[in-house]
Amino acid sequence: MARIVVLGGGFAGVECVKQLQRGLSSNSDTEIVMISEDNFLLFTPMLPQVASGTIQTRNIVMPIRTIIKKARFYEGRVKNIDPVARKVSVWGTPEKRGVTLDYDYLVVALGSETNFFGMGDLEANSFQMKTLNDAVSVRNRVIDMLEQADNETDPEVKRSLLTFVVVGGGFAGIETAGELNDLLADALKHYPGVRPKEVKVLVLEALPSILPGFSEKLASFAQNRMVRGGIRIMLRTAVTGFDGNEVATKDLDTGKAGRLYTKTLIWTAGVTPVNTIKRSIFKTERGKMVVDEYLEAEGYPGVFAAGDCARSVDPATGRPYAPTAQLAEAQAKRVAGNLNAAINGRSMKKFSYSPRGQMAVIGKRAGIASVFGLNIQGIIAWMLWRNIYLSKVPTFSKRVRVALDWIEDAVFDRDIARLKFMGKTRLKEYGTLNQVDDFW
Ligand SMILES: Cc1cc2nc3c(=O)[nH]c(=O)nc-3n(C[C@H](O)[C@H](O)[C@H](O)COP(=O)(O)OP(=O)(O)OC[C@H]3O[C@@H](n4cnc5c(N)ncnc54)[C@H](O)[C@@H]3O)c2cc1C
Repeated sequence: MARIVVLGGGFAGVECVKQLQRGLSSNSDTEIVMISEDNFLLFTPMLPQVASGTIQTRNIVMPIRTIIKKARFYEGRVKNIDPVARKVSVWGTPEKRGVTLDYDYLVVALGSETNFFGMGDLEANSFQMKTLNDAVSVRNRVIDMLEQADNETDPEVKRSLLTFVVVGGGFAGIETAGELNDLLADALKHYPGVRPKEVKVLVLEALPSILPGFSEKLASFAQNRMVRGGIRIMLRTAVTGFDGNEVATKDLDTGKAGRLYTKTLIWTAGVTPVNTIKRSIFKTERGKMVVDEYLEAEGYPGVFAAGDCARSVDPATGRPYAPTAQLAEAQAKRVAGNLNAAINGRSMKKFSYSPRGQMAVIGKRAGIASVFGLNIQGIIAWMLWRNIYLSKVPTFSKRVRVALDWIEDAVFDRDIARLKFMGKTRLKEYGTLNQVDDFW
């Protein structure tokens, strides 16, 4: 019996297992196992809309077990990959048994995490937009700031409470800023102590333009539209630190240092592969697993990588592909095809990729899209975004729920209830209990 172990239940991992299930269903000698930290696939393109409350939290996550029905699923955090012994171990906790699994073939699709480029104060004090928890935290934070500002008498403190800084002018940053601006505009009617002109949303970007990858025309449309909507965009501005109150910046043209005062900074300025890969013995470059044109790890036949954690080079440009969900799925399909070929003694195929286009929503029912060789902007691009991304939500029931959320958002007022976290802190409780035991 051959065992294929797939690590990571994101776009790449889930797509790979979906394809493998199809291709290998008649071959009872192959077992597919997926290991992932969460038991759901997170549909990241809609994450900023969870932060703004347009979409309900649970509607952008799809339980993995409902998508991959013929594979075995382990919910757990991968601790170590040993490609020499062909073993993968999963962390154990006081509540969860750690396991070690043998594999014949391995697919590494562990994605990425936020990159703070070693700036510890930023990591400690800023918000992120990468996980479901991040989106809910940002929404709670924004509402909390409005609650506090409504009764604040000190103008300086109020200004800082009402300034929201998003760092990063890529997809995640721009879509987050657009959504937050819309949320703030709608929520303000409930806060009579806050005037609209007191609220500021800023985007800081180190590059000379936002949304790199789009044509200059579309990027500048997006920028102008957002500025008209009240968002301030500061280009060629690098963030060098944030202590929770003060953002240290550097103008990259003049070299001049600057300061901004805010309680809320959302960092979306880069991703890096997860530590499990950086710690591994695989060949890596900038933390990503180096793979060949078949997406196989250099020096380890039978081990493949796909998605944000794989470093595969675009032969047309000689540079690594930009990390996107679209690329992750395309790579996953090729990996599944090559695994099928390897198991059945056929020759593998090289990975080739031509992006089908890209789109972004920028708030106020506007977007930009570069699809089918056309550049589209404004409400048509926004509608296109909604149609295309809705069709990409993996399950029918979640597609319907997202559509209903959008209808509800168009008809009713935004919900400004701030739900506090209700997470269980069992590990801490264990610690306290031990200390009490010792004391007795
Ligand atoms: C806000 C935002 C908006 C985006 N919008 C777009 C967009 O519009 N279009 C687009 O194409 N792309 C978009 N992206 C990028 C896209 O989300 C990523 O490129 C894509 O998720 C990569 O897929 P992946 O499978 O490699 O990684 P992921 O989807 O991140 O999946 C990795 C999986 O591995 C799991 N994992 C990680 N470490 C471990 C471990 N040690 N043990 C067990 N499991 C682990 C994670 O829990 C996760 O399930 C966006 C990203 C963000 C953050």
